[in-house]
Amino acid sequence: MKITYNLSNCSADIVSKNNMTRKEFLKICGLLGIIVPFNASCIARSLLNNISNKFEGKVTIIGAGAGGLSAGYLLDQLGIDFEILEASSNFGGRMKINTNFAEFPIPLGAEWIETKCEIFSEILNDESVHLDVKTIKDTPDYKFINSSWYNFYEIYIVPRILEKIVFNSVVKKIDYSEEKISILTSQGLKVADKVIVSVPLKILQVGDIEFIPDLSKKKQSVIKNAQIWDGFKAFFEFSNKFYDSGFEKIIENSNAGQKIFYDASFGQNSDNNIIGLFAVGSAVGKYNSLSKSQLKDVVLKELDMLFSNQATINYKKHLCHNWNKEPFIKGGYLSDYADWKDVRRLGESVENKVYFAGGEYTDGENWVSVHTAALSAKRAVDEIFNNTEYNKT
Ligand SMILES: Cc1cc2nc3c(=O)[nH]c(=O)nc-3n(C[C@H](O)[C@H](O)[C@H](O)COP(=O)(O)OP(=O)(O)OC[C@H]3O[C@@H](n4cnc5c(N)ncnc54)[C@H](O)[C@@H]3O)c2cc1C
Repeated sequence: MKITYNLSNCSADIVSKNNMTRKEFLKICGLLGIIVPFNASCIARSLLNNISNKFEGKVTIIGAGAGGLSAGYLLDQLGIDFEILEASSNFGGRMKINTNFAEFPIPLGAEWIETKCEIFSEILNDESVHLDVKTIKDTPDYKFINSSWYNFYEIYIVPRILEKIVFNSVVKKIDYSEEKISILTSQGLKVADKVIVSVPLKILQVGDIEFIPDLSKKKQSVIKNAQIWDGFKAFFEFSNKFYDSGFEKIIENSNAGQKIFYDASFGQNSDNNIIGLFAVGSAVGKYNSLSKSQLKDVVLKELDMLFSNQATINYKKHLCHNWNKEPFIKGGYLSDYADWKDVRRLGESVENKVYFAGGEYTDGENWVSVHTAALSAKRAVDEIFNNTEYNKT
């Protein structure tokens, strides 16, 4: 029997008291049969039911990652005028993939589905869409089979909104002091009634976007003091499979960071033997400054130690991706150990004009991932459409 507890007020306290990540806490809830209230479905219903409050202005979304794309898609469903300003020349942000390295897409950022697979229809918010997403259980999460989060957005979300994305448009300033909001970009000035900020938190932390007037002192302080982990991934291909299928070896897991070696080809229809290296936070440290060939030597040495000297002799090729060096990302993501009250404040809207959506702007109960970015977009669009307020602390 499943028991429903109302955990929305107490869960974060339990998490911090036990030095447990929000992710671990939610997984334990799943094991115990405790259902954490899932606000997003209520939001989805209210989004489409309350047509009478329909907002009729223009929304500008900044950033075409999971948060920004989801927000655009939902605004499109509601018939609201919008555009997405994206600094780089592609959509997807931290869902980026490499398609040349292996027979399946290599996820340079988001890889696992860190929730139930019903999330796909929840993100699409449209029961008529025929979904064909193949996944495999990769305990405790799921993985895409020969696909990725990027491909999910590419197939189901982007075609509907592609013409609304303005690429190579770097936002530098958001002036919300007047009734209309002015947005200064590398391509000139834009005007909107509402703005959804969906850039990585690090972009705000380093001050790449100026707000006029300044954001509140409290919000500025949370942004400034947020611990944003570095982010790094590498993939090594080998001629022989000298490791167990689906292995995962946790090398480091602390409140300063995480490092894992794992079977990156697990569940894929492929003969490629690929080991992945996932590192965030302090675990990225030594990899940050290495050249590609230095990285090869360092990682092969580590793998030789784990696998009785089998790595170096079976090595074929490798690739790496350092998220700290991406000019419009500048890091990995907000620490899993961030205080829930701070996370909630990051997601709070400002003066019914500036809204936040993305992995780092959740309701406080969630950690940074693709699905939480999508759900935060639902919340932001609902706030705009229904003039509701979430996350007020
Ligand atoms: C190494 C790593 C591994 C991860 N693994 C997983 C995983 O397994 N599963 C999972 O669910 N999640 C994972 N995540 C987290 C997930 O990738 C993110 O939570 C999610 O993709 C964030 O989406 P977003 O829209 O908030 O931000 P982003 O995807 O970062 O998108 C923000 C966009 O804003 C643009 N931008 C930045 N500055 C400007 C500007 N000034 N003007 C205009 N545009 C701008 C950027 O170019 C970018 O496209 C991982 C992340 C990393 C780094």
